Amino acid sequence: MNVAACDNVSVTSTPERTDVLVVGAGPAGSAAAAWAARAGRDVVLADAAVFPRDKTCGDGLTPRAIAELQRLGLEDWVRGHTVNQGLRAHGFGQTLELPWPGGSLPSWGSAVARTELDDHLRTTALKSGAVGVEGAKAVDARVEGGRVRGVTFRRDGETFEIECSRLVVADGVRSGLGKVLGRKWHKDTVYAVAGRCYVDSDMADDPWISSHLELRDEAGSIVSGYGWIFPLGGGQVNVGAGTLATTKRPADVAIKPLMANYVEERRADFGLRGEARMPTSALLPMGGAVSGVAGPNWALIGDAAACVNPLNGEGIDYGLETGRFVVDVLDTDLSVTWPALLREHYGEAFSIARRLAGIATAPRVVPALGPIGMRSDWAMTLALRWMGNFVTDEDRDRAARVWRWAGRRSVGLDARPPFT
Ligand SMILES: Cc1cc2nc3c(=O)[nH]c(=O)nc-3n(C[C@H](O)[C@H](O)[C@H](O)COP(=O)(O)OP(=O)(O)OC[C@H]3O[C@@H](n4cnc5c(N)ncnc54)[C@H](O)[C@@H]3O)c2cc1C
Repeated sequence: MNVAACDNVSVTSTPERTDVLVVGAGPAGSAAAAWAARAGRDVVLADAAVFPRDKTCGDGLTPRAIAELQRLGLEDWVRGHTVNQGLRAHGFGQTLELPWPGGSLPSWGSAVARTELDDHLRTTALKSGAVGVEGAKAVDARVEGGRVRGVTFRRDGETFEIECSRLVVADGVRSGLGKVLGRKWHKDTVYAVAGRCYVDSDMADDPWISSHLELRDEAGSIVSGYGWIFPLGGGQVNVGAGTLATTKRPADVAIKPLMANYVEERRADFGLRGEARMPTSALLPMGGAVSGVAGPNWALIGDAAACVNPLNGEGIDYGLETGRFVVDVLDTDLSVTWPALLREHYGEAFSIARRLAGIATAPRVVPALGPIGMRSDWAMTLALRWMGNFVTDEDRDRAARVWRWAGRRSVGLDARPPFT
């Protein structure tokens, strides 16, 4: 038995076995742990970090993420931070204000620094009944007959195992545990390279999040990708920049200088003051570009399963959603049900989105199409809805039907459809 793991909800010794073991306490893992515990299961939620911990992110909560936070009972908590009404898109001499489309999703968004959001989500999971284990890195899995029987952790030079009946792998982009179980990230499909920092700003309470679609490097050349300024309240904004890449067309920009350049370009318009703090960057698998997402009693969720929108790089919502979905199918043969469920929910949208994002990595596409799109409110409203994947199964309007049709066609053309 290991040393007691402390959290602000309970003090408990590390369990030796559990029904559901969730590895990774980001949005995906904490959502899975909360829902599994609420369903009456014994749950252990383990993470390599000690919370609160930072995570490289734009901190933006789209309406899709808000819907999940509402389901978890966290609406008031989110509203106590900051509320935004849509996206202000800038570029090619235009500025367009595009309200969140609403429909079957909430018509508002928010942004909460991940240090705080993830700590609160983890606390929510622990309050729901999950047992937290911190500072414990999963390093190996004991697999017998294809089933995971236990996960080996390392903490403070000590190694120990937690046995489990079911395993949810939510260990993020690199997914070390996923790799042990055979997960493969396909970098020939478009992925993102992105960075963020925090800056004091006079626009910290702006009710719009801002994106700059005309992103330029230090030499003034347009880069495929976008810059963002997400107001966080409390006098600060999250500023970041992301660009797209594939193995064939690797990103040929250094992300931190690109971000620093973006901060300087926007300093006057956004009342940015002082130094950019905590600049970090990361790679981001997107659009289900991984295979090996499940075995008989284990499943990958969130970033580990590349559940990130290829057109805007957001994945908190998909992390929260997959955390909820996986709990409903835990008692099935996950090697069959989980890839099928991911494909059903995200296959078509991810397929068409990553196809379009792949096209955007070609030189001259953004400079050619950007100015045309930005001339039309109508085109950009539609683009926002599609790029944000604000189309749910309940939506029956023409834009939703076109998006679904394009998705179906795209999957038909895929040499390797999402999650395969
Ligand atoms: C620059 C950037 C900007 C972004 N901006 C946005 C945005 O504005 N909005 C949005 O919705 N999404 C955004 N994203 C994507 C978003 O950050 C991810 O999709 C989201 O964090 C996925 O959550 P997750 O729970 O799957 O993984 P994570 O949040 O990465 O959590 C994984 C957890 O697993 C733990 N872990 C890792 N390895 C181990 C191990 N071996 N053992 C135990 N624990 C382990 C980690 O400590 C971590 O706590 C951005 C990403 C980047 C890189």
